[in-house]
Amino acid sequence: MSEKKQILLVDDEPGIRTTLSISLMDMGYEVETAESGERALEMFDAENPPIVLTDIKMPGIDGIELLRKIKGLNPDAEVIMISGHGDMELAIESLKNEATDFITKPIRDDVLEIAPTRANDRIAMRRRLREYTENLEEMVREKSEKLVAAERLLALDQAVEGLSSAIWGLAGEIDGDLKYFNELPCFVSLHSRDLKVLAVNELYRDRLGNRVGADSWTAYVGAANQPGRCPVGRTFETGQGQRSEETIRRSDDGGDVKTPVIVHTAPIRDTDDRVALVIEIAADVTQFNRLQEELRTIRRKYRLLFDEVPCYISVQDRHLKVTETNRRFKEDFGGGQGEFCYNIYKGRTDPCVDCPVMDTFSDGKSHSKEAVVRSRDGEQINVLIWTAPLRNAADEVTHVMEMSTNITQLHKLRDQLSDLGLLIGSISHGIKGMLTGLDGGVYLLNRGFAKDDREMIEEGWDTVKLVIERIRAMILDILYYAKERDLKWERVDVLSFVSDVAETFAPKIGEADIRFQTDFDDSLGEFEIDPGVVRSALISILENAMEACVEDNEKESHAIRFSVHPDDGDIVFTIADDGVGMDKETLDSLFTLFFSMKGQKGTGLGLFVSKKIINQHGGAIHVSSEPGEGTTFTIRMPKKLPESVKGS
Ligand code: ADP
Ligand code: MG
Repeated sequence: MSEKKQILLVDDEPGIRTTLSISLMDMGYEVETAESGERALEMFDAENPPIVLTDIKMPGIDGIELLRKIKGLNPDAEVIMISGHGDMELAIESLKNEATDFITKPIRDDVLEIAPTRANDRIAMRRRLREYTENLEEMVREKSEKLVAAERLLALDQAVEGLSSAIWGLAGEIDGDLKYFNELPCFVSLHSRDLKVLAVNELYRDRLGNRVGADSWTAYVGAANQPGRCPVGRTFETGQGQRSEETIRRSDDGGDVKTPVIVHTAPIRDTDDRVALVIEIAADVTQFNRLQEELRTIRRKYRLLFDEVPCYISVQDRHLKVTETNRRFKEDFGGGQGEFCYNIYKGRTDPCVDCPVMDTFSDGKSHSKEAVVRSRDGEQINVLIWTAPLRNAADEVTHVMEMSTNITQLHKLRDQLSDLGLLIGSISHGIKGMLTGLDGGVYLLNRGFAKDDREMIEEGWDTVKLVIERIRAMILDILYYAKERDLKWERVDVLSFVSDVAETFAPKIGEADIRFQTDFDDSLGEFEIDPGVVRSALISILENAMEACVEDNEKESHAIRFSVHPDDGDIVFTIADDGVGMDKETLDSLFTLFFSMKGQKGTGLGLFVSKKIINQHGGAIHVSSEPGEGTTFTIRMPKKLPESVKGS
């Protein structure tokens, strides 16, 4: 302390002020004087001297009061009191008010020297004490800051580890097929504003090295290997979490391995809402990419399978709305997506009664059923339907897959096979009958020749001719049946066609008492048919009508009505007779091969072949009949041949 110490000297006696001033200045103090308590207070207030030396007895503010006031202003001020000799009470009073020292008059120089020195020592000590305390505080602050920083880093490390184990834990929750997710290594790291790595998780340390303290961007290869372009830098810049696909350089596996990662970052804000830290999570997706590629390949294979299997596949929701179809389905039934199954397959406006898809929705099991559906060309297709439930993660059936196999060919084959069985039986039977007839004819011929009986020869020859004729007709019919003939179709004017049929048929009525009425609409237009075979089908039906009339003896006269009308893209033929009619049983077997009620006169092939011809044209026959009343055949033929028939 080289500067001079100040002392404020207060005494109302000018002589004392002067003497003491000189002594004190000699001792090296800088002395200010005041002649009263009032003046002393003013000066103290202005200059705040560390030591005050005051007389106790003064007019106005006395020494004791001055002491109190000064201590009020600055408790550290050292106030030394001066009093007359033996004034013990004042001395005690002074000390109570924390006076530093007490000097009695007359003042000896050595005493005067001691008091301010002691005061000074106390001041110095106090200063040192204060300095020491302040240092201590500073030291504590410094130390604790370091401690907090260390503690915080530790906490960050723990947070990062905790976070990564939480992610692993989460991944572990996803079980089953996604187990590879568990194998997705996540590198978790924390970054500061100056783009330094603050903390990393264990896996990061293992694979990328302990990069704590390194620059955030240096982990990356390529564009992200720059302060402003790395995910952390972009997060600080934008204040937004980032997601990107990057490549990092791994340091394990003996060095420079480049690994694809998906990086997510999230900003961590301080209390002022500034981004203080950024957490970065990078997931190694090498494995994932490989699996994804595999998945894509498998998907492609399944799609191919889905499209190429030889059946119609559709996926339907609870309302039977089609959500997906395969290629074959699209080809034969159109796109279908968003339409109702019953509408596509059956042209219906509401669900079918016995729907296997609905059954699967209600019991979660597969169902199968045979059905007849209609393609977009109007072709009837026999299908075998099989359903399978499609479930969501919660095991609820959300969709049903419907697979339909086209069994039309199978049906035909089955029909043909059973027909063939029937055919062989009937042929044997028919041939046996005809051989008996032939035997009879040959016998008559032999006898006639032997006896030279011309009449007998003629009778025998007639029998042989009849049998031959019947064999010929039968063989022709069998040939037609056995061979699937292609239609020789052409566009034909309906009116001239039916007029021609009527003209061919009319003379056959001959002498029988049957009226033949025709009723042809005059706006029939054209239709696509094989005229040769359709003509024979219609004539066969007309002949049956005639035979039914001839057979009927109940009525005096008979009539056959042949009418033709257009109806919504179809031509409808009606052949109505008032002949014998049919009972239920006959009606049921009408179209069966070789079914005939006419004994030797019939072949039972006519209606079988006619139906085949009509069906081949995409048409249909309907029969209604009352025994004793008559029969009506209704034949409906489309004006346009189905594409499938035309093509072949
Ligand atoms: P076929 O005429 O050689 O007996 P079809 O196949 O033409 O053979 O007819 C089968 C059977 O159907 C006939 O034998 C007859 O009993 C019955 N039938 C066909 N058309 C009629 C009809 N219009 N009225 C009554 N019965 C009929
Ligand atoms: Mg017939």
